[in-house]
Amino acid sequence: MALRDDDALPSDDRSPDNAPIDKPIFLSNPMDWRPIDRFILLGSLVLLAPGMFALSLLGTLMMAPEYVNIGIAKPLLALYGLHVAVLLVCIAVAVRRRQHTNDWPFFENIIIGGFIIDVMLSSYLTGSHFTEGLLLLFLGVNITSALARVEKIRFSFFFVIAALITMAWIDFSGVFKHAPMLERSLFHPDGSPVLGWLIVQVNIAAILSSLIYLCLLAVKRWVEREDLYREMSTIDGLTRLTNRNSFIQRGQEELARVQRQTSVSPHALACIMLDLDHFKRINDTWGHHAGDKVLVTASNIMMENARRYDEVGRYGGEEFAILLPGVTMDIAAKIAERLRKRISDAEIEVDGQTIKVTASLGVACFPSADVHDMNDLLKAADSALYEAKDGGRNRVVLAKTVEAQNEKTEEPIAASAIDLSGSGA
Ligand code: GH3
Ligand code: MG
Ligand code: MG
Repeated sequence: MALRDDDALPSDDRSPDNAPIDKPIFLSNPMDWRPIDRFILLGSLVLLAPGMFALSLLGTLMMAPEYVNIGIAKPLLALYGLHVAVLLVCIAVAVRRRQHTNDWPFFENIIIGGFIIDVMLSSYLTGSHFTEGLLLLFLGVNITSALARVEKIRFSFFFVIAALITMAWIDFSGVFKHAPMLERSLFHPDGSPVLGWLIVQVNIAAILSSLIYLCLLAVKRWVEREDLYREMSTIDGLTRLTNRNSFIQRGQEELARVQRQTSVSPHALACIMLDLDHFKRINDTWGHHAGDKVLVTASNIMMENARRYDEVGRYGGEEFAILLPGVTMDIAAKIAERLRKRISDAEIEVDGQTIKVTASLGVACFPSADVHDMNDLLKAADSALYEAKDGGRNRVVLAKTVEAQNEKTEEPIAASAIDLSGSGA
């Protein structure tokens, strides 16, 4: 197949379907090709079916005509010839059209319709509609769903099912002779196939293997896109931390798990909210790229200090949230303080300059009388964070829980008041 010249395309014709391909077309996954290129491939593959059927039938008519009903075989041969001719003409036209257009729905209809008619007719006439015919049809439907438009394929799928049910009914009713094209059994009395039929079966296997290979490519692309989609929808691109939505989702799951636990087993869930102080100034003074580096450095510090089952998320621009399953308020306070210190100690080199940054942290914990769901936990940690900001920044504040209020222990924790020697995790 010829190389594609993207520059030859009119500029207003650049839909996602004709996104520039940075490697030769024959090296890229056909699923990524433009529709018309996919149809040329599909048409060439589908050409194998009438071509192979016609050759087999021609061979049988020449070498063993006693096996077939000539009155059916000759019109069928003509139909195969017509199908091959139509496909060849369409492929030739499509090769010319691809220079200036990306799509050709008529060709797509010819490919799908022709394939279905060919396979259903041939398999019904030879009595193989519930064996090879069925396999070819459904594999054909499967592969074309990757190369052609899925609505058409869905229609074809239900059409094939309806046709197969009709054929089953005809078989059961005995209205027509089973396998009307055959005058003799294609199998010897010992059950082995006659040589001609064996050759037909081997050829069908060749068509099936090329279809299956394309299916593999389709599935490969699907898996790759699924992975990419999952990553894009759950991971923050800059810091590689969990994004806000998946952080909240994980928090809801953890909280539900902790709420299910009995009082016999330890149950706690802490949440730390962390916001970099005067971050805007860093952007304004050193540039956005420096701000990005600070965000990445702070994220790395949080990740390095997290346990395997903790969740560190980028909650907003320069705001982060950390979920600590099984951690109570006092331990979470130590972890938060350790983080605060590591961030304030960090020396971030950008363009030969050293940037320093500090963070304010709010800590909340479940169980607490006023925390019933993840929203409550986040709100409690956020209020504590705002208190830390109001209190002068670069500090850790613990959320005032109802219990804490009752016990009159609502003092914000001064950074220096926390024992830094505790490992915390
Ligand atoms: P405070 O101490 O009160 O938190 O002040 P602040 O400057 O940190 O907070 P403010 O909300 O005023 O500014 C946050 C800034 O973070 C504004 C926004 O441009 C910047 N920001 C958000 N996301 C990114 C990012 O991905 N990269 C960079 N470089 N900056 C970001
Ligand atoms: Mg900030
Ligand atoms: Mg902020």
